Amino acid sequence: MKLETDFLVIGSGVAGLTFALKVAEFGQVTVVTKRGITDSSTAVAQGGIASVFDTAVDSFDFHIQDTLASGDGLCNEAVVAQVVKNGPDCIRELIDLGVHFNTTENPNDSASGLDLGREGGHSRKRIVHAHDMTGQEVERALVANIRQNDRITVLEDHIAIDLITRSTRMKRGAVITAHETECCGAYILDRASGQVKTVAARITLLATGGSGKVYLYTSNPDVATGDGIAMGYRAGASVANLEFVQFHPTCLYHPDAKNFLISEAVRGRGPSSGTPTAGPSWRNTILRRIWPAGMWWPGPLIRSLKRAATIRSFLISPTPIRILSENGFPICMPNVSASALI
Ligand SMILES: Cc1cc2nc3c(=O)[nH]c(=O)nc-3n(C[C@H](O)[C@H](O)[C@H](O)COP(=O)(O)OP(=O)(O)OC[C@H]3O[C@@H](n4cnc5c(N)ncnc54)[C@H](O)[C@@H]3O)c2cc1C
Repeated sequence: MKLETDFLVIGSGVAGLTFALKVAEFGQVTVVTKRGITDSSTAVAQGGIASVFDTAVDSFDFHIQDTLASGDGLCNEAVVAQVVKNGPDCIRELIDLGVHFNTTENPNDSASGLDLGREGGHSRKRIVHAHDMTGQEVERALVANIRQNDRITVLEDHIAIDLITRSTRMKRGAVITAHETECCGAYILDRASGQVKTVAARITLLATGGSGKVYLYTSNPDVATGDGIAMGYRAGASVANLEFVQFHPTCLYHPDAKNFLISEAVRGRGPSSGTPTAGPSWRNTILRRIWPAGMWWPGPLIRSLKRAATIRSFLISPTPIRILSENGFPICMPNVSASALI
């Protein structure tokens, strides 16, 4: 079967759906996604999105410095600056699309009205969030907008297998070589019928997320198998930085259940700097269980990750799980708290 579309978007996370909504203004869009539309890393993201809103105490420069320090010398500074400076506008776009972020009534908290949280590596409160289910709320609003747009067709349970490319013969001196120079769609497997569909498109976007699921232990969803990176590579695209795989050091381990992320925001509610001080506070109790000493901030963490072949610091003791059901966690982090107790 052959289908034609102006824009083929492979993946239904925040990247794919945001792109689909923007380009629908210019033509017909087909979004393919290998499971249900909400099966994505986006939908399971918890803590929130870092962005500068409280300009009385925060600035782009502070956010850039924090990011560079966390990256421990590995960041591309131009990209960091671009992402940081575009953050507030992107958040406002999401709000305009109907995303409900937590707000605060307290005028001393944030001039923006947004309830800003703080996470490890950030010297200021700048995490815009929807409780501890931020990604679920972002995905909900994007899907609602997608469903209302009659220029966008969504094909669920459709797996992109490979890109379709056109090659150009190039003559350099006496040598003629073939180069894959143009992508004109993709072959897509319809899981229900077992049929491979040929989808021809003027523009194809790979928005297939990460590859965390190739590891045995991960907080990533099952769909995160790196297909898009492989497809792009096979089509001749350059790939880079493949050693950077999302790794959450705080996962709940249970022999009979899937790994579940204990949000970084849990850590963010802990001590503001340095190593933990002795004392009976719940923060120290939970954090010392989760984090080995000296791994409080991303800099040292990244350095130790670089050294370690494998790191598995799973949360296996029942004590921290009990703590997640107390100390106000059920109110501010209902998702983490409830899931940890199941
Ligand atoms: C547990 C967890 C918590 C997180 N918490 C945060 C957080 O608090 N803050 C933050 O900023 N980030 C967080 N992240 C990271 C964030 O979720 C991701 O960076 C972001 O959602 C990636 O969006 P994406 O659209 O690129 O990919 P995804 O949301 O993963 O979407 C990829 C899509 O591609 C589809 N797909 C893949 N291969 C194919 C194929 N071959 N054919 C068809 N479809 C395919 C998938 O089904 C999926 O729909 C978290 C991630 C996880 C896993």
